[in-house]
Amino acid sequence: MEDALVDISDIEAARRRIAGRVVETPIVPSPSLSDRMGLPVHLKLEHRQTTGAFKLRGASNALALLSADAKARGVVAASTGNHGRALAYAARLEGVRAVICMSRLVPANKVEEIRRLGAEVKIIGNSQDDAQEEVDRLVAEEGLAMIPPFDDPAVIAGQSTLGLELIDQLPDVDTVLVPVSGGGLAAGIAAAVKAKKPSASVIGVSMDRGAAMHASLAAGKPVLVEEAQSLADSLGGGIGLQNRLTFAMCRALLDDLVLLSEEEIAAGIRHLYAEEREIVEGAGSVGVGALLAGKVNPRGVTAIILSGRNIDMELHRRIVCGETTAATGGK
Ligand SMILES: *Cc1c(COP(=O)(O)O)cnc(C)c1O
Repeated sequence: MEDALVDISDIEAARRRIAGRVVETPIVPSPSLSDRMGLPVHLKLEHRQTTGAFKLRGASNALALLSADAKARGVVAASTGNHGRALAYAARLEGVRAVICMSRLVPANKVEEIRRLGAEVKIIGNSQDDAQEEVDRLVAEEGLAMIPPFDDPAVIAGQSTLGLELIDQLPDVDTVLVPVSGGGLAAGIAAAVKAKKPSASVIGVSMDRGAAMHASLAAGKPVLVEEAQSLADSLGGGIGLQNRLTFAMCRALLDDLVLLSEEEIAAGIRHLYAEEREIVEGAGSVGVGALLAGKVNPRGVTAIILSGRNIDMELHRRIVCGETTAATGGK
């Protein structure tokens, strides 16, 4: 393993710091997936986290580490939705001003939820990178503290608490399937799981539309990809050409990174609803989609991270009824 960029003492400190601000989510066996795969498959129900996604872990840890001065000025972030939502929630809890910048591709339900949580929302351009430019301006001109969605040691340490929780709940886990976009979740989980159980495999799953981390790992350096609409909208966005941490961590720690089509993502959403009775968004369903599609060959006790549930319910209904496109999915 390369130098630990986020080590086990950072992870354990983060867990103590955010205890009481996040919930410990359940892990449950999946009889239907276990039967189908012929090995024990467990589902980590992180979509039941407060705000509907794991991102509250990283946002809470990063916010808690700010100085009193920085908290008085406020925080800002670019977000495809769930990070903004988490930061808005965490900031309101501490009475801190939050400004959330996002691109026009973000679904309306996510924008509304962030406004409802009391944050100021700025809609900028057609990509995460456009939104990031506005963030940089607010940092320079108004002195707000940027809380990045993934490429930050405090955020990664926060997400890694999910891995620590998982290994406590399921100490004999051999394979973990985790959704990948910017790679903060996967890097964090892999750092925690492999610190506790080095023999475990951590396999990332992305959508095949604009998979920035996959393209970057193949190129050997961070590269730009064109963003496209996907059922896994929370997996949209680049990893940043100046990526500091998650690219190196994913390269060192992930055993594989597989890609899913829209139809395979939809099959994951449908399975989770029909067989497991869980409502999970596209990004949160890719681990199940990867198993069902035969894209991964898990070994031993397998855990799948269900990372979020913030899907437009009208879109969810249409997917469950057989549709597979996100193009008509916005409200
Ligand atoms: C952000 C997000 C991801 C991906 O996390 P990264 O740290 O960007 O890789 C996966 N699932 C959901 C629900 C998310 O909100």
